[in-house]
Amino acid sequence: MTLRVEQDIFVVRQRGREVAVAVGLERQDQVRIATALSEVARDLLRAVGGADVAFAIVESADGRRHLRVDLTPVTPLPGGRYEPESGAVARLVDTLSVLTVQRDTVVRMSRRVPATARALTAERLAELRAQLVESAPSTVEDELATQNLQLVSALDEVRSQRDELARLNEELEQTNRGVMALYQQLTDELEATNRGVVALYAELDEKSAQLRTASESKSRFLANVSHELRAPVTAIIGLARLLADSASDPLTTEQEQQVGLIRSSASDLLTLVNELLDLAKAESGRIEPEWAEVDLRALFGQLRGTLRALPAAEEVDLVVEEPAAPATVRTDEVLLAQVLRNLLHNGMKFTTRGEVRLRAEQRPDGWRLTVSDTGPGIPPQLHDRVFEEFYQVPGSSRVGGTGLGLPYARRLVNLLGGTLELASEPGLGSTFTVWLPSDGT
Ligand code: ADP
Repeated sequence: MTLRVEQDIFVVRQRGREVAVAVGLERQDQVRIATALSEVARDLLRAVGGADVAFAIVESADGRRHLRVDLTPVTPLPGGRYEPESGAVARLVDTLSVLTVQRDTVVRMSRRVPATARALTAERLAELRAQLVESAPSTVEDELATQNLQLVSALDEVRSQRDELARLNEELEQTNRGVMALYQQLTDELEATNRGVVALYAELDEKSAQLRTASESKSRFLANVSHELRAPVTAIIGLARLLADSASDPLTTEQEQQVGLIRSSASDLLTLVNELLDLAKAESGRIEPEWAEVDLRALFGQLRGTLRALPAAEEVDLVVEEPAAPATVRTDEVLLAQVLRNLLHNGMKFTTRGEVRLRAEQRPDGWRLTVSDTGPGIPPQLHDRVFEEFYQVPGSSRVGGTGLGLPYARRLVNLLGGTLELASEPGLGSTFTVWLPSDGT
């Protein structure tokens, strides 16, 4: 169609809208393309005296359909360029450009047709063309009225969009307030928890300091008392021996018995005092292991010899297995011997039938020394308690003892960098395991 006089602008606009409706553009887009078209038409009429207008449906490389409008100016554009009077025009369509088509300079605009629009067959196009030819262009007044209506509906839409935006903003603000309140609450809770944890730690520190002081006082007390007791108890034993000596004045049978009682009680007391002193020394950290490469075979040989002299029930065998050579471990020989002697001694003391066995097994990272017996066993719930000072399994005290041997042994093993554990069931004997790292650390 042609654009030559002012009135044609309205016709171009009207046709543009009709075509937009026919190809299935949405309402907003119909108004947009019609408005863009009338703006460009006005510019071209003023600048070059008119143009020829052609509508086309084209398909882009991605298969999408576009409504394309070409305006071919009747005389060349000044400088071959075109800038719309209103900068907003370009925003009304997808593309607005000036290009050369078969040596003509053309102003081309296009708008995408929604995918949901009815497909345009050749027949449908022909039909549309016929409709457009038939429909008479409306008058300027009609077109103005239509334009006004469109303007009113566009304004209406803008207002409802603004309202929607305000509502969304309000909602967003509310959500933000909620999130901030939640954040504040969480921060407060975290702070309160932190304060609680800090207070708890302070209390813990204080308690462990108190415990340390109490334990140090206990060790000091034990060390002092036992040290002070040792001299008089030793003196009592010596004096009792003197009294019973054949070179002294003869005693009556009863006196002899009483002196014997004094001696054995004093000996028990001395054992207790010595053990207390050992334990106090181990607890105060005053025992410094003397590290050396110790040959377990030699150590076991010594134990075998010294323990043979121990009083044991007739039906109990003491078996000290020979460790496979080489059997060296970096440790303190005296302390380790003390621990093993203690465990073997206990085994012999509590076992009335069967055997007490010492065995050494080498593991990739250390030595596992076990002292097992076929004695009465210890109930599992008492496994921790037998390592407490002075604790004796009920009924076992009649065979003598102080309840200090195992806690002392465990302390020594810990000093040697190892552990001392117990596995036992009543009636199935006991196995004490000393684990020592090969390099003593
Ligand atoms: P004690 O001087 O009484 O032997 P220990 O500390 O060496 O003190 O042992 C604590 C207690 O553990 C013993 O009194 C005894 O009840 C129990 N116990 C220790 N070794 C054995 C064992 N081999 N078999 C059974 N009970 C044992």
